[in-house]
Amino acid sequence: MKFSKLAEYYEKLEATSKRLELVDILSKLFKESDTSEIGKICYLIQGRVAPFFEPIELGMAESMVAQAVGRAYGHSKDEVIKHYRSKGNMGLTAQQLVLKSHLRGVIRKNRDHFEGGLSVSAVFDELLKIAKFSGAGTVEQKVSTLANLLKKLDPVSVKHVVNIPLGTLRLGIGDPTVMDALSLAKTGGKKLRPVIEDAYNKTSDLGFVAEVFFKKGQKGLSEIKLMVGKPVRPALAERMPNAEEVVKRMGDKFAAEPKFDGFRVQVHKNGDKVEIFSRNLEDMTHSFPDLAEGVLGEVKAKTAIMEGEAIAYNPETEEFLPFQETTKRRRKYKIAETAKALPLVMFAFDILYLNGKDITEETEIVRRKLLEKVVPKGNATIRIAEQRIISTAREISEFFNEAVSDGLEGLMIKKLDSPYKAGGRGFHWIKFKRASSGDLADTVDCVLLGVYAGKGKRTVFGVGGLLVGVYDEKNDSFVTICRLGTGLTDEEFKQVHEIAQKLKVSHQPARVNSKIEPSYWVEPKVVLEVYADEITKSPIHTAGEADGVGFALRFPRLVKFRESEKRPEDSTTVSEIKKLYELQFKRK
Ligand code: ATP
Repeated sequence: MKFSKLAEYYEKLEATSKRLELVDILSKLFKESDTSEIGKICYLIQGRVAPFFEPIELGMAESMVAQAVGRAYGHSKDEVIKHYRSKGNMGLTAQQLVLKSHLRGVIRKNRDHFEGGLSVSAVFDELLKIAKFSGAGTVEQKVSTLANLLKKLDPVSVKHVVNIPLGTLRLGIGDPTVMDALSLAKTGGKKLRPVIEDAYNKTSDLGFVAEVFFKKGQKGLSEIKLMVGKPVRPALAERMPNAEEVVKRMGDKFAAEPKFDGFRVQVHKNGDKVEIFSRNLEDMTHSFPDLAEGVLGEVKAKTAIMEGEAIAYNPETEEFLPFQETTKRRRKYKIAETAKALPLVMFAFDILYLNGKDITEETEIVRRKLLEKVVPKGNATIRIAEQRIISTAREISEFFNEAVSDGLEGLMIKKLDSPYKAGGRGFHWIKFKRASSGDLADTVDCVLLGVYAGKGKRTVFGVGGLLVGVYDEKNDSFVTICRLGTGLTDEEFKQVHEIAQKLKVSHQPARVNSKIEPSYWVEPKVVLEVYADEITKSPIHTAGEADGVGFALRFPRLVKFRESEKRPEDSTTVSEIKKLYELQFKRK
């Protein structure tokens, strides 16, 4: 496919934020695409040149892109920036400059290039090249490669390509929308969405899944297995109101493990190569050299994918350090120093792949036995989480109290005959957390959507309150649930201010559904953990809205930022909010 054709689709996608229309347009695009390019198109429509877990970022600052645009069309960088300031969008700026340069004849000699038109693959390859430059001279290499690419493109293509290295291509297309469109393109309906999603849960790579689907059909998808190096979307736990209900649900016997309050890590071992992914499947290997070394020295397997909770631990006093300490390990600088001061221990709680075999279909009992072999007792860094097989509410309470007095968060209860359910929240795992003073069984992970300007003391930070929302999984959008103003320290207000400045946008973002308007909107990117007394109904908010009434959090307070732990789509969903709303009556 010619890139100019893809650019026409970008135009159509940009013109709507309606979910059904987006799915429809995308499915037409997929139908028209060459099978060999479908994967690349999946990345490009989300503004990327690789799956999100690969640390391949185009990462060009405004001034670099301005320099490239200027160089392509015979303007100085400052002229481009001036134009950009008045337009507010680099894509539009570049589009106008390319049109003017045609009039002035600046790039007439290149007409042949763009009249024939570059293919999607050719543009993709150039962008990938830009992302991969490193070391001395990188800035110049990136600028000149982008300038050369722009010269070969028609004005509409230019408008969109420019936004990719800037990270400002905002078509509002989330993964569920792509999956629906893939199914629609192939079958005329959404019936294959679950099969596509299953393959996606195993690999987290939509481009790869789309390519297999278009080359080998449904059969190809169902043959996809876990692969070392491609993170698996994590299994998630349900909530229950009390221990008695847990016993009813779990049956005769079940497993219970301490719930460690650190951060989830997924470790991939392939011979002497180790990769470590975070809860949101970001590659964090470079931040955790001590864990990587532990895996190499202590894990008894050639190849393996394991999950566990990493937590800062004092081996001498055998004490777990509070979450605030553990989280300092997620920094991307002073890594060696921090690793020495705050060594991590990983408590492995599951194994998904072992010596060349996907073992997610095995039961919890079988996986646990294999995990015990692979992670021997006596390991210093990669330890195995304690597990007890129990059967009564009383045993749950006793173990729970022990765990809490050891400074842990509570328990995880696991069904013994259940496989590992990648990417799904279900009753195979139940989280049982320390009771809070309110009636809610859990905290809520909210997405920052907007900012209210500060009053009084807080004007120093420019932030008075936050408009936050949750994820509406049915519509692949974000809906509002409360205004948050308490529980933030001065430091956190400052932090929000910095984050909000980076994510500030001039219009309500395409995927946000709100009835209220903050002082300014931000791109939905950052997840905040919020604690509330209860969930009520409210005419103001759009979370789970029916007949004009939605859900709202009452007395919300910030617990912590979950910036590098969760993607916005990993925040609490509307259906979870509904369940939490109902659960609170059972807890009373
Ligand atoms: P979720 O991961 O369910 O979206 P969350 O990230 O907000 O929610 P919690 O609500 O605290 O986390 O509960 C689930 C998390 O508990 C897991 O993602 C994992 O990181 C952590 N965890 C700690 N100990 C265990 C354990 N023994 N088994 C499984 N998970 C554990």
